[in-house]
Amino acid sequence: MAATTAKAGERNDSKEPTSAPALAATKRSQAVDAGRLYFDRAADRMDLSDNMRSLLLMPKREVSVQIAVELDNGEIGTYVGYRVQHDDARGPMKGGLRYHPEVDLDEVRALAALMTWKTAVVNIPYGGAKGGIAIDPAKHSPREVERITRKFIDGIHDLIGPDIDIPAPDMGTNSDVMAWIMNQYQKYHGFNPACVTGKPVELYGVPGREEATGRGVGILAVKLLSRLGRKPAQTRVALQGFGNVGSHAAKFLREADFKLVAISDASGGYYNPDGLNVNQMLSYAREHHWSLVGYNGADQISNEELLELDVELLVPAALGGQISAANAARIKAPIIIEAANSPTWPEADEILSKRGTVILPDILANAGGVTVSYFEWAQNRQHYQWGLNRVRQELDRVLAESFEGVWQLAQERKVSLRTAAYMLGIGRVGRATILGGIT
Ligand code: NAD
Repeated sequence: MAATTAKAGERNDSKEPTSAPALAATKRSQAVDAGRLYFDRAADRMDLSDNMRSLLLMPKREVSVQIAVELDNGEIGTYVGYRVQHDDARGPMKGGLRYHPEVDLDEVRALAALMTWKTAVVNIPYGGAKGGIAIDPAKHSPREVERITRKFIDGIHDLIGPDIDIPAPDMGTNSDVMAWIMNQYQKYHGFNPACVTGKPVELYGVPGREEATGRGVGILAVKLLSRLGRKPAQTRVALQGFGNVGSHAAKFLREADFKLVAISDASGGYYNPDGLNVNQMLSYAREHHWSLVGYNGADQISNEELLELDVELLVPAALGGQISAANAARIKAPIIIEAANSPTWPEADEILSKRGTVILPDILANAGGVTVSYFEWAQNRQHYQWGLNRVRQELDRVLAESFEGVWQLAQERKVSLRTAAYMLGIGRVGRATILGGIT
């Protein structure tokens, strides 16, 4: 086996020798600032004391662990894995695991807090957490990703568990990764499939988990449109991202009669003003490892152009920070549904809000995933298999109630949907914290 020096370093995907790291670092610190700013806006409306703000904002625990593995070529790869457990006042902490070269502690911290408010907005009995490893899974073989995952669990197995902190998929991870987590956890603590969600349906997963976030986006889009007095058939949609969330959102939006005119993924944007053939694009992506590269059923546009299209609804479902001060003034869509986490920076949020753009915030818009993760956890604990119909019905109910709660609060307090969602979430976490007692 070779020494872990220069060559192993080459495989350390966190070291990109371009200006990308600097840009990424700026983005991450903006994500932290954005979370804090949205929190403060809501906390101001709630007259929350400084002491309570500090208590609610400070993560309960943060860990970084070394992950050293043997790569397929015999070299040693060394990576760092993070888990931030933000708050457990309302229940075990819950949050995804992201594999992406730009993952770092700041980003994970921001996303962990987001999870606390998200689980509270949809009123499921969880707190918030998030984890990640700074790797590009596309640059590793499945066996390497498995070894990295198992080594990560070796490092954090005693900090997670069904009553403590339950990981789930996020960008760059999938049901295979969740199955490895379940298996590795079992080696230390015995059989307990509720230790992780997003598992394969054949291995204690729940039907409907994979589609849940995108389906939720579809359900919420219909509810929002109805409140705004608009009809799906007269609503042109631009959708950024065609991965797990984006592809399922496209399917459900199409089924609900929305007119999707533009869809993009990392390869660029695809545009047809008369409406895209969504089913054809789904089939194409499925046959091409979930990439639209080479799809020729529409005109090609850039991702930047997609965001600025003249449409009624824009759905960012890929990366954070896509709507910023740099492009906000050019964004024409009067409605934005944040399927991705943190796609809108606060300066952009302010520019758009002043213009009357209605933004359904991430902590509600993409909460379908964690909601169905909760059903999976409940199913595992009951040792009783839930069917797809039951999952869908319960998801519809939870999202409908959550949407109504946020909408009503926004009307009553004359605040944006984002501030209302944060107020609802912070209020629930704050009350649970007080009721539980601080001794
Ligand atoms: P994914 O990895 O399955 O898909 C990401 C998609 O974004 C891919 O289609 C990729 O090609 C595309 N993409 C990457 N860079 C792009 C760019 N510059 N322009 C346009 N598209 C680009 O990830 P996912 O699970 O679909 O997650 C997407 C977002 O939704 C993330 O912000 C994630 O945190 C959030 N989210 C996911 C879930 C879930 O259940 N998967 C739940 C809640 C929130």
